[in-house]
Amino acid sequence: MKKNDESKSIKIDETKYSMDTQIIYGKNISKKWDYSHHVTAPISSSTTFRLDSVERGAQGFQQFANTEQFGESSPIFIYDRLGEPNKDLLEENLAYVEKGEMALTFATGMGAISAVLGVLTSAGDEIICHNTLYGCTISLFDNWYPKYNIKVHYIDLTDTENIRELVNENTRVIYFESPANPNLDIIDIKSVAKLVAGLNSGREVNRKISVVIDNTFSTPFCQRPIELGADFVVHSLTKGIGGFGTDMGGAVIGKKKYKDLLLLYRKDFGAVLNPKSAWGILTYGLPSLSLRQRQQTNTAMRIADYLSGHPKVEYVNYPGLKSYKFYDIAKTQMIDFDGNFAPGSMIYFSLKGKTPAECKENGRKFMDYIAGSVYTMTLAVSLGHTRTLIEHPASMTHSVVPPEQLKDRGLDPGGVRLSIGLENPDDLLMDLEEALQNINS
Ligand SMILES: *Cc1c(COP(=O)(O)O)cnc(C)c1O
Repeated sequence: MKKNDESKSIKIDETKYSMDTQIIYGKNISKKWDYSHHVTAPISSSTTFRLDSVERGAQGFQQFANTEQFGESSPIFIYDRLGEPNKDLLEENLAYVEKGEMALTFATGMGAISAVLGVLTSAGDEIICHNTLYGCTISLFDNWYPKYNIKVHYIDLTDTENIRELVNENTRVIYFESPANPNLDIIDIKSVAKLVAGLNSGREVNRKISVVIDNTFSTPFCQRPIELGADFVVHSLTKGIGGFGTDMGGAVIGKKKYKDLLLLYRKDFGAVLNPKSAWGILTYGLPSLSLRQRQQTNTAMRIADYLSGHPKVEYVNYPGLKSYKFYDIAKTQMIDFDGNFAPGSMIYFSLKGKTPAECKENGRKFMDYIAGSVYTMTLAVSLGHTRTLIEHPASMTHSVVPPEQLKDRGLDPGGVRLSIGLENPDDLLMDLEEALQNINS
């Protein structure tokens, strides 16, 4: 990025370059770039900003969250919670890579999810979502939304037509993850968008239904839902986009006309991304996304193949396996920047056992063996890390779901979630084989 200095900079059409290159350079010229001779943006670590005059201060406050009126002019920075250079630069590049009109960052993925749903819903409104979701999103819906009188319906969105049974005049949002965390259910994004467009055609502007997709599992490298018709994408930047497991973060990407509302929401609810985290994601995370995700996807394909052929493995859910029930839909929508099938870096599987309890016990032994005796995999939640991470959703990331509801939420009590890292795949295969040898059945 370069400073927005029209007299000195040449107009370059970034779009003629591949996205692998664009995610390194970002926009050639940025209005958010406040520096003259830096190649990498300096870490901005200033809670407040000097205002040259009262008039400029007043102008800054007037312009804040008024992009509709003032456009995307060079910002007057006032106070970190309102906006600052590192976050603004990251937001510009995130919008670009996800093909959205705007992006706003938040302190965490949950900060982003609660913000987009916070601006789209009011008391009395309803949300329709897929049965299987990240555990804290379920907790947000089940533990907090009843207090705000926002009703959430869980349905099987792998059959898009199910929406018609529950939709009514209060429906404001269709919300899902694809692939879903942790079981990798795939939802046909184009088909949902098409159905919702039909439902919206008769609705007033402020009662239209928005399609919001949590794209954390795919990252924009593997899937860009806005291109497929979604209104908003949310991300946990903590995961694949951040990529190194060093910083929490979240983002909402979508329609420009919601930017001001989201800015006000973020200012008042306060879940702003730390600029030092924004800097890391801008400098290391996003520019290396293609490189990491391509490697991780190739490795995941080999591991999924290996696991699915292993006599001790009951089943493997991975969008890249031809045997997977959602393979055909995955193939149409999980596409990398170059147009290749990109089934991602997440795998969900279960070990064999004579009873469900035995499957679960074998999974426990397998993960405990990895935790204690294996070099290349780590028992830990989170995903999209340089290291391969393994965890047990039913007792960890999704422990909010009571045992008797696991099945309704699409969760297998014995299911194991694997997030592939950057290791040499041969080493991962060697360690997986050793861990699988160690369970008796
Ligand atoms: C981790 C995760 C989140 C929450 O993100 P945080 O940054 O931990 O708040 C949301 N959705 C999915 C799919 C996730 O995996």
